[in-house]
Order: sequence, then C-alpha cells, then structure tokens
Amino acid sequence: VPISNIRNFCIMAHIDHGKSTLADKLLQLTGTVQSREMKEQFLDNMDLERERGITIKLQAARMRYMFKTKPYCLNLIDTPGHVDFSYEVSRSLAACEGALLVVDASQGVEAQTLANVYLALENNLEIIPVLNKIDLPGAEPDRVIKEIEEVIGLDCNNAILCSAKEGIGITEILNAIVERIPPPCDTAGSPLRALIFDSYYDPYRGVIVYFRVIDGTIKKGDKIYFMASKKDYFADEIGVLSPNQMQVEELYAGEVGYLSASIRSVADARVGDTITHHGRRAENSLPGYEEATPMVFCGLFPVDADQFPELRDALEKLQLNDAALKFEPEDSSAMGFGFRCGFLGLLHMEIVQERLEREYSLNLITTAPSVVYRVNCANGDIVNCSNPSLLPEPGQRRSIEEPFVKIEMLTPKEYIGSLMELAQERRGEFKEMKYITENRASIIYDLPLAEMVGDFFDQLKSRSKGYASMEYTFVGYKESELIKLDIQINGDRVEPLSTIVHKDKVILMGEEQISEKKLLSKLSTQLSGS
Ligand code: GDP
Ligand code: MG
Repeated sequence: VPISNIRNFCIMAHIDHGKSTLADKLLQLTGTVQSREMKEQFLDNMDLERERGITIKLQAARMRYMFKTKPYCLNLIDTPGHVDFSYEVSRSLAACEGALLVVDASQGVEAQTLANVYLALENNLEIIPVLNKIDLPGAEPDRVIKEIEEVIGLDCNNAILCSAKEGIGITEILNAIVERIPPPCDTAGSPLRALIFDSYYDPYRGVIVYFRVIDGTIKKGDKIYFMASKKDYFADEIGVLSPNQMQVEELYAGEVGYLSASIRSVADARVGDTITHHGRRAENSLPGYEEATPMVFCGLFPVDADQFPELRDALEKLQLNDAALKFEPEDSSAMGFGFRCGFLGLLHMEIVQERLEREYSLNLITTAPSVVYRVNCANGDIVNCSNPSLLPEPGQRRSIEEPFVKIEMLTPKEYIGSLMELAQERRGEFKEMKYITENRASIIYDLPLAEMVGDFFDQLKSRSKGYASMEYTFVGYKESELIKLDIQINGDRVEPLSTIVHKDKVILMGEEQISEKKLLSKLSTQLSGS
C-alpha cells in the first residue's frame, strides 16, 4: 500500500482494562489471525505474562483493513504495562503516530492511564479515547468520559464505546484509526534511520530486532550500522509481522518490521538504538536513546552450593534476552558463592527470580533488595554504592544520599487517610492532594525508592481493598540519615547480608532479615563444618 494508507498505532491501558482482549479482536476482525489459531490473547505470549496479566515484552502485528474500498495497512505495536518498563513504552510510542487509550467504563481513570497519556503527549501522538466493557451492568461511560475530560483534559466528544469481549464497537475503532491517525511522513529518500522498539534472543537465529523505519529504506542483505552500540551487521533477513514473521525484500519509511543479522545478544541491539546504513550513514541518531540503568540490586545464592554453575549459566542465558539485567559474582564464607544482580525495578527483579526458579529449577535465597546510594567521601570523591558491604567506613564518608521517587496514588476518598499513613510510615514527604472527581483523589509524595522496594504496592492494594493505583518516577538523590546494618554470626560479619537503612528502622530491618527461614537453613548447613 502507499505510505498514505499506513497507520502505526499502539494501545495504552491500565492493567485489566482490556488491552489484550481488544488487540485480539482487532486481529480477528481484520482476518490477521484465524480464530482456529487464536490462543487466548495472541499478543501476550509468555506464560509468566499471561499468569500475571501483564505484558512484559513488546510485540507487534500488521493488519490489512479495507476502508471505503481502499486497502490500509495498520501496524499495532504493543506496549508493556508496567512502570519498570516506561523507557520501553516511550520507545514504542515513538514508533507510532497514534494511540488508542482504553479505559474500563465500569472503573475509570487510573494512575497508569495518566502516566501513559503523558508519554503519548510527549511523543505528539493522536489519542483516540476508547471506553471498554460497556456490556457490564456497572458501566458508566458518561461518568468516565467526564473524568477523562476533567483529569486529562482530553476532548472526548468522539470517544468510542466498545466491548472488546462482546465484539461491540470494533469496526468503529478500526475506522477511527484510519480516519483520525495521520499517516507517516514520506522520507524514503533520506538516509536510513530505523528505531528499535524491541528485540529478543532466538537460540537458532540470534537476536531478532523489531523496528520502525523512520527515514529511508532497508533491503535484505544491506550492511547496516547500529549507532549507539557502534556495531556493523548484514541484514540477513528482513520481514513483517502478520503477526507471524513473513520475509520481505525491502521496507520503506513508515513501515514496521523485523530483521535478523547474527547478533549475539540483545545488549548489542538495544531498544531505542538507531539503525542506519554502513555506507550512507544518517547524520544524527534518533532522539530518546537511554542506557539501561539498574535501580534495584540484590544477592542471589543457590540454597544448594552445587547449583552455583547452573545459576551462572541461567543468568547468562537470561541476559542474552534482557539487556537491563546485570550481575557479578559475590561470595562469603557464610553464604557461599552467588551473584549480586541489578534490575530496572521491583517487578523486573521478581520476574527474573521467578524465571530462574521455574524455568531453570533453581532453589534460591534472595538477600534484601537495595538501591544505589551515593556516598560523599571525606576526600571529596563521590562513590556510587549498590552493594552495602562495600560502603566506605564511617570515618571515610561525609554523607550518604539515596534515590527518591515521586509517587502518585489515585484512590477513592475513603482510603485517603490510610494511604497517607502508609506513605508517612515509609518516610514519604507530602507534596500534594487534590480531588480529581467528587469521590476520587490524587495524592502525591516524594518517597525514598528504598521504601518502595518491598511490600509498598501490596500495602497500597490491601489498605484500599484493591481500589487504589499508583505510578512513580525517579526524581533524584537526597541526603538522608542512613547507616549500615551488619549481621554477625558467632562474631563474624556475613557481608552479603549487610544493608543500608534509615537510622529509625534499624531494629525492624534487622529482625526481618534474620527471621527469613530459607536463609537460616542455608546458614546452618554452610556453617556446620566450621
Ligand atoms: P489487559 O490487562 O489490559 O490486557 O486486560 P485483558 O484484555 O487481559 O482483560 C482483563 C479482563 O477483563 C479479562 O478477564 C477480560 O476477559 C475482561 N474484559 C476485557 N474486555 C472486556 C469487555 O469488553 N467486557 C467485559 N465484561 N470484560 C472484558
Ligand atoms: Mg494484557
């Protein structure tokens, strides 16, 4: 199809508002996927994702759609639904011209809805509001429309009412994609610039890169250059996702596709990198690229010391597919051999731990998660410390700073008090509280990231009977009264168990650490010989 008949879009939604169900219906109605090949929810194809109902990795699909007797090509780019992956979300949005904003008509605007909209606006996307689940008896589309208009300031005059489950309103959505989202700009004559919005490791073919051609064209066999990783490859295979991979010879500006080029690890084809031609390089890379910076660290030790080589192999395998996962060996006489690992956030950490235990049958002990502290040393040096056992001694340091996040909680008004208490208990600094509608409020705090690591989210959910939602963004470092908590056994310090804690929480943290059952049994076997 000509470029004027291409539309690139994504679907944004708070968890459970129906993104995957709607994506499936779009694929079905356009005949992209026959119902006999439909698994429940085609786009989420990792077990763990399905179980948790979240999308961790992005996927894409190309659909054909006839509108007023003309064929259109609609590229759907899926976005992960969790704040740990907001960089990945921002790169998929940058690959689109428009977005469907799906809101559950029986619920309303949630914190994640707001975060998504801000990202979409930053990327200048055309936003189409979609009210889902209108089949439910509790659906109140008019109330929710008012909420979207008031809270987000988005014009909802032509919001679409739909039921993804019952298949109501799907054609209207497809028509709106064609009519309201602008086509890509035709820059096929410029030097190649393609934006990587996802990549995954395939053990047989190497890394498969998903990209949007922003400028120029790319042909099978081209010698290409990745501008951030500074590496050259040959594009052995290029193709489109329909939604299964289908090879093509060439892709032009505005199109979405995949390539394989014998790339050995996803770290060499990072999300956000720009692909250009080796021979005819683009002058500037596309904006928005960021290195992955782990925010949360913990130690992982096998319960059975014999599993150490297996743990190393498993981490190496996971890393091929996960550029954000960092690890280095760590050992101590009490804990034996293990690894200190870095993650983007808590969910990322949990996913990796769970995959190690489930897919690689490892039985692991996890030490208390820690954040990266910034230490101002007496000699004027500034040291970043992600491993509490390496914290400079009190005499060598002047102060310790810790990372803070800004959290926004959205909640029905009856839970305001108990959520403010929660934030206060976690050393939160109150910033703002406002009613976004008559019955719902937004509460904003600055909170130490270290206090979010742990059960903050679970507490938020249980204190609000599941009704509150939250989002957070990193705001910067601030000095705090932090000290190091060591744990000794028979007078010997167990270094991997050292943590950095606020002076008011030392006793609490210490007791929590040493009451961990798996840890106690490990220590008693490890030390039984000595
Ligand atoms: P996601 O987390 O945004 O991907 O949400 P899902 O598509 O997984 O949907 C979450 C839940 O809502 C599932 O149980 C769906 O069956 C249900 N659901 C999705 N769309 C509708 C709808 O239009 N009506 C009703 N009644 N339920 C829906
Ligand atoms: Mg989903």
